[in-house]
Amino acid sequence: MIRIGNGYDLHRLVAGRKLILGGVEIKHSLGLLGHSDADVLTHAIMDALLGALSLGDIGHYFPPTDERWQGADSMFLLEKVYQLITERGWEIVNMDNVIVAQRPKLKPYLSAMINSLAHRLNIDPEQISIKATTNEGLDAVGREEAICVHSVVLITKTS
Ligand code: MG
Repeated sequence: MIRIGNGYDLHRLVAGRKLILGGVEIKHSLGLLGHSDADVLTHAIMDALLGALSLGDIGHYFPPTDERWQGADSMFLLEKVYQLITERGWEIVNMDNVIVAQRPKLKPYLSAMINSLAHRLNIDPEQISIKATTNEGLDAVGREEAICVHSVVLITKTS
């Protein structure tokens, strides 16, 4: 048996914040605004995982009103979410992600992000695809006001 999940997230880019994607800190003059570390890639992946089993979204498990998640490491939240999947007897087949960012150039960081996520999810890096694209200068993402991510995850029943 297989199930598929889709995740989307967007965070604003602001000065004075770190830019963290897939648990990897990216050198940039702007960072993502959010209650947690605002790792928009990891958030989209979490929503895709939850969606695959119709378990709702990350806002349900880690509400922004909850002080416990202030400045939270999203990779830790990802582990918690994946636990919900694995404890139900499912595991990841593969995932495909698209990061939409006008700047900075993310290509040099993609393999580090893949390795970071693979390590946390205890899967092979080859099961993870991450692509980066720009928005051709259009809309809020193109104006460097935000970064958004689209994720698709396939999972299979193991037990
Ligand atoms: Mg988010």
